[in-house]
This record gives sequence, structure tokens and C-alpha cells, in this order.
Amino acid sequence: MFADYFVTGCRTKKGFSVILVPKSDNVETKRIKTSYSTAAATTYIQFDNVKVPVDHLLGQEDNGFIVIMSNFNHERWAMACSVIRWMRTVTEECMKWANQRIVFGKPLNQQPVIRQKLAKMISLTEACQAQLEIITYQMCNMTYAQQSKLLGGPIGLLKSYATRCAHDVADDAVNIFGGRGLTQSGMGTVAEQFHRTYKFDAILGGTEEILADLGVRQAMKLMPKAML
Ligand SMILES: Cc1cc2nc3c(=O)[nH]c(=O)nc-3n(C[C@H](O)[C@H](O)[C@H](O)COP(=O)(O)OP(=O)(O)OC[C@H]3O[C@@H](n4cnc5c(N)ncnc54)[C@H](O)[C@@H]3O)c2cc1C
Repeated sequence: MFADYFVTGCRTKKGFSVILVPKSDNVETKRIKTSYSTAAATTYIQFDNVKVPVDHLLGQEDNGFIVIMSNFNHERWAMACSVIRWMRTVTEECMKWANQRIVFGKPLNQQPVIRQKLAKMISLTEACQAQLEIITYQMCNMTYAQQSKLLGGPIGLLKSYATRCAHDVADDAVNIFGGRGLTQSGMGTVAEQFHRTYKFDAILGGTEEILADLGVRQAMKLMPKAML
């Protein structure tokens, strides 16, 4: 909605080309509502007889797929960082709430069923955090070429696993907060927001199914011949 330029993947003679299209009267935008913030300005865009200067081509003609893919590993890693940070914050909020909320004369954390939920949330979150730190270490110590060859699959598996875990964490968090997990103010705000929005990390930048599949396909491709 607010953009002055649009980075577009255009079908050209032999593939995709990435072209920078400036906003003009021939570029029409219409807001699309989402369950997330309107600040993201998700937009339906129509291009009608748009012409752009030749030097607005990014990368090489017909090689746009490489331009698009060069972004994905880091984008997916950043999304994993974000969703795992959310999981940690939501778990912390639940720990505090379970300590503070008195039900039937005693704190919520005196209920074994609530402690079981917290145990699952902590275990899932810390497993994801550990996986994230291992991959981040590798990103910091590999060349760009090594990362491109070896880390696409593990990063895909990290993001898809993290959002599967986020699904369980968000679900349990709302149950722990009860009605407050559904209100957009007060103690349950964080749980409510996470439960409403964690799916963005599950779909954007590659869906869980596609990334899990990518991870396995890369692992199969790189398996030593002797094991096949
Ligand atoms: C508001 C919004 C903002 C977005 N912003 C970004 C962004 O900034 N960057 C970005 O990268 N993406 C972004 N996306 C995500 C992107 O636009 C697509 O939604 C996403 O890549 C999934 O594609 P799709 O919606 O066409 O789903 P589809 O491809 O139709 O998939 C539907 C379902 O089928 C499954 N599926 C599809 N193909 C297969 C297969 N071969 N094997 C098994 N299962 C399969 C999918 O996993 C999914 O569960 C955004 C989406 C929205 C709604």
C-alpha cells in the first residue's frame, strides 16, 4: 500500500526476471485485510501496460529465480529467530500467570495438568532454540558457497519444526490463560497475539510442508554414495 517501488518476479522469454517497477498511474494497489497488522500493508497489485527503463532489471534476464532464492535462507533463518523468540516470551508469560492466578484457592501452577503443559512448552521451545543456535554457528563459520550448498535443508527443517512447535505452544498458552488468552488487552495479550499470528511464520517464506520436503530432499541428495 505504501510502496514507491515494486520488486517483481516477471515471466520472461526463458524463465523469470526480477524487475523494479516504480509506482505510477498504471500500477493499482488495493488493501487486502489479514489477521496480522495492517502496518504490513498486504496489497493486491495490478500492473496495466507498465513500461520500465531497461536498467531496472535486477540480476540477469531470465535468471531471476537465482535472485529470489538468494534471499530465502536468511529470511527463513530470521523467521525462525522471530517465532522461537515469541515461543520463549509466551512461555515466560505462562509461567508468570500460572504463579499469579489463584483458582479454587490455590495458584494455577499447583495443578499437575498445568505443569505438564508448561513442561511441553519449555521442552519444545528450548529444543528449537538449541537447533537455531547450532545452525547459526554454522552460518557464522561457513563460506557463503558452503551455506548455499549445505544449509538450505537444515534451515528449512528448522523453520518448519519451529512453527509446528509454535502451534502447540500457542494452543497451550491460550488454555493456560483461559478467557484472558482471547482478549487483546491485559495479562493474556501476548498469548492472544501469538495464537492469532504464529501461522504467518508457518506459511510465509515457504510453508511447513514445502520446507520439510526441501530438508529431506537435500539430505537424500547429499547422502554418501556408500549408504545408498
Ligand atoms: C499476507 C501475506 C504476506 C506474505 N508475505 C510473504 C513474504 O514476504 N515472503 C514470502 O516468501 N512469502 C510470503 N507470503 C507467503 C506466500 O505468498 C504464499 O502464501 C506461500 O508461499 C504459500 O503459497 P500458497 O499460498 O500459494 O499456498 P499453496 O502453494 O496453494 O499451498 C497450499 C497448501 O498445500 C501445500 N502444498 C503445496 N505444494 C505442495 C507440495 N508439492 N507438496 C506438499 N504440500 C504442498 C502447502 O504446504 C500448503 O499447505 C505471504 C502470504 C501472505 C498471505
